[in-house]
Amino acid sequence: MSAQILIVEDEEDIARLIARTLEKESFEPLIATSLSEAQKIISQKLPALIILDLMLPDGDGLELCKSLRFREEKGIPVIILTAKGEEVDRILGFEMGADDYIVKPFSPRELALRVKAILRRSQTPPSSVLKFGELEIFPEHMEVRVAGKPVKLTRTEFNLLLTLAQAQGKVLSRETLLDKVWGYTFEGYARTVDTHVRRLRKKLGSAARYIETVWGIGYRFRN
Ligand code: CA
Repeated sequence: MSAQILIVEDEEDIARLIARTLEKESFEPLIATSLSEAQKIISQKLPALIILDLMLPDGDGLELCKSLRFREEKGIPVIILTAKGEEVDRILGFEMGADDYIVKPFSPRELALRVKAILRRSQTPPSSVLKFGELEIFPEHMEVRVAGKPVKLTRTEFNLLLTLAQAQGKVLSRETLLDKVWGYTFEGYARTVDTHVRRLRKKLGSAARYIETVWGIGYRFRN
């Protein structure tokens, strides 16, 4: 059975190009050209992943991102399509729970690689509960608790924390983290890791101390 991937994009040429690329990789693309159409499709089909343009005729793609994150406990992975240099949208997208973004104009091949990386990541078999003092990580439910209280993390933040915790004190470089958490390495994207670590620490509160910065290299989980 091939995975259904929803493309939300009002520029039909781009939508068709993405659809063709995904078909070649044996995915089943669905196209929505507006937010309302996307909502309708999601409620009926629950796609495996969403490729989301931000500027849509009836609103901002981020709204969809936000509603997905709050409605579904684990959320459907989202790749945001953004115009060149839309830094603000990019950061905002991660806050709203996007898993990745791709800048237009993009190569269809690269997009396909990202889609496959994200789907692979979300299918990694779960492992048992990890416990460090007040911090508990439940890989199976993608859940984190600090002193018994659940902490809301995005999928990427969760994977980042889990990857660090599972490395058992080993220092992980930004490149390694990109590769393990995002599924690919990309020159100049190391800053993305820092942004996510910052946000993760903030959400973890007292448990933030487990994530140690190793100057000039990357991060380490300290237990
Ligand atoms: Ca658009």
